[in-house]
Amino acid sequence: MRYGIISDIHGNLEALQAVISACRQEGVRRFYCVGDIVGYGANPNECIEYLQSLKATAVAGNHDWAAIDRLGIEQFNSAAAQAIEWTKKYLTEPSKKYLQQLKLVEEDDGFIIVHGSLNRPEEFLYIQDITHTADTFYLMKKPICFIGHTHVPQVYIKSGHNLQLGNQSTFHIHPEQKIIINVGAVGQPRDGNPMAVYCIYDPDLQRIELKRVAYPIALTQKKMIEAGLPDVLAKRLSIGQ
Ligand code: ZN
Repeated sequence: MRYGIISDIHGNLEALQAVISACRQEGVRRFYCVGDIVGYGANPNECIEYLQSLKATAVAGNHDWAAIDRLGIEQFNSAAAQAIEWTKKYLTEPSKKYLQQLKLVEEDDGFIIVHGSLNRPEEFLYIQDITHTADTFYLMKKPICFIGHTHVPQVYIKSGHNLQLGNQSTFHIHPEQKIIINVGAVGQPRDGNPMAVYCIYDPDLQRIELKRVAYPIALTQKKMIEAGLPDVLAKRLSIGQ
């Protein structure tokens, strides 16, 4: 069994379709989503329906909670806040129900998924560098934790007391290690590469890969602008920032 782990779809249906078909071509049969299914993009309902059709296991992100009024938007910048207002109007009742029942943390075959960090997951704290990883490593009851939230793919490896950044895109997990993997963003990458990011975990080989796939960005941008979402959110997709 190979698992596909994705995050930060943000209502970008074209990017979601591209990562799912890339995963399927690589033999992935089971999917996990690390939060922020909605917010920013023009197709929040369609992305939710697609995840449901895949029977994906998902956790809530800060945008998912903001869209159903479980989190205030004071921390959001003005374009993000406008997109949340747009999303609230556009979400169907079944989509709202789906977002309501999402947990903040899920566990499976040797791994955990959480949007921000394991400490106070309801606050959606950011793990942006190695100094932010201590609490999550401490709380991990399993060797692997997949996160999202920053939209930047990143790997943190703990071997005994030694912490390091993993900068390769494919790596093997050794039994004495714990690993936090930020699986980047499907729908709005921010590491300077506009291609959608996805992660494949193969428990038999104890191998994790971070991968990229192209998608029709111009079509996504056109839909966002026609929907009345802020231009800046559409434009940044071209440069992955
Ligand atoms: Zn996000």
